[in-house]
Amino acid sequence: MAHDASDLQRGLALHQAGQLHEAERDRHAGSIAVPHSQMPLAPTADQSEIRNPKSEIPPPSPALHELLCTATCPACGHHVAVQFYDGGTQPLATVAWPKTALEACAMIRLPLRFVRCVDCGHVYNSQFNYGEVPYSEKPNLMFNRGAGWGDHLKSIRDLILRHTGDHPVVVEVGCGEGHLLRALAEARPAGRYIGFDPSNAINTGNGLIAGRREYFEPARHLAELRPDLIISRHVLEHLMNPLGFVQAISFAASWENIATRLLIEVPCIDNVIRIGRTVDFFYEHNSNFTTTSLERLLARCASEVELVARSYNDEVVFGLAHFRRRDDQVQFAAEAVAFRDRASNHRRTICEAIDALSQSGSRVAIWGGTGKAAAFINQFGLDAERFPLVVDSDTDKAGTHVPGTGQKIEYRDVLVTSPADVILVATQWRAGDIVAEIERCGIPCRSILLEHEGRLVDYFTGDHPYRTAKHAA
Ligand SMILES: [Zn+2]
Repeated sequence: MAHDASDLQRGLALHQAGQLHEAERDRHAGSIAVPHSQMPLAPTADQSEIRNPKSEIPPPSPALHELLCTATCPACGHHVAVQFYDGGTQPLATVAWPKTALEACAMIRLPLRFVRCVDCGHVYNSQFNYGEVPYSEKPNLMFNRGAGWGDHLKSIRDLILRHTGDHPVVVEVGCGEGHLLRALAEARPAGRYIGFDPSNAINTGNGLIAGRREYFEPARHLAELRPDLIISRHVLEHLMNPLGFVQAISFAASWENIATRLLIEVPCIDNVIRIGRTVDFFYEHNSNFTTTSLERLLARCASEVELVARSYNDEVVFGLAHFRRRDDQVQFAAEAVAFRDRASNHRRTICEAIDALSQSGSRVAIWGGTGKAAAFINQFGLDAERFPLVVDSDTDKAGTHVPGTGQKIEYRDVLVTSPADVILVATQWRAGDIVAEIERCGIPCRSILLEHEGRLVDYFTGDHPYRTAKHAA
């Protein structure tokens, strides 16, 4: 995936979402923290309701082509999903805050096409577009004053205190007004607490915590702060790509060699699916986690998933995971950096060699004009003015033109009657066949060059891996 940090982090302008307001009024909290190892991670369907399939005629099922859609699961990255819930079109539900009835009724309506990943059970809006949600303009504060919800918050605070030392560095992504960080700072004042939120809502409690009015960017802030714990509560469900966000934390921990923990909390739809409740599915909540899909997301990114549990009458699910350096990722990235730098250096030296070839006054033929050869010609600036002669082994390509630079591609026989001094093989990988063809057809030339490691080298005498056994002899 090619996401830069700002893409991933655009979603973190929001604070804790408001969808639990109603839940906290209606329900009494019962925090149930289940150790990860003891918790069933299978879908939570009520097994007693599953009827014996042999005793009934199966219900008519829709044709698969009507159900199946290819979309990328935001939790696990799987690409096959099925239709789950079509909510038609509705306006934004939590962040719009319309001031007049007219404004409210005129709100733009957005598509709610929820699908379900067949691999992890995650439910997401296949039509979601993050750009439709103005988090940077409108506050999205969570209602935190319900009694039952307060019990849940205390249980989360205590969980964090159990998993951090005496002097923890704790970062909260999308901290809202900062109540959780302040509660942690009061309980363990020797720690350092930094809340990230681009809104102006952070209350530092007279310096009890630090507030940063910006997005948390793993590529910058992990190395700067070296947190023992990163908290992200009621943020991931809003993101376009929550898996990408957590993977960015994972890779930053690997690259910077930082061991850290991540605590994620999101609304849980295990009950929603069982009951058939549909009001959970509104536009701002692109992602709707089940216990399984949160567990899967963490397992895909973390070194160790320490805990996944539900709370608040199973309306929320949270997970704690440990991230350590992953040598394989660092190795791939180091190879990429080395390749990038070498390519950059080679481009400079090859261009110098090509300039020298052009200035030598030799008549040059480029062998190959499409595919890799077209890439060669375009990358290294073999323009039609300096290098007008391009030939190819394929009669079908003759008469067409080199993409981007425009030379007319001629059949290679032109070199029999009108020879070149130098033949520049633009596709190294088939240099042996091309040289054999040159010999077979009796095409005269002074030298045959190809590019290797940033230089133009002679096919017969240069140092390169493309010479065939026949020509090496
Ligand atoms: Zn999935």
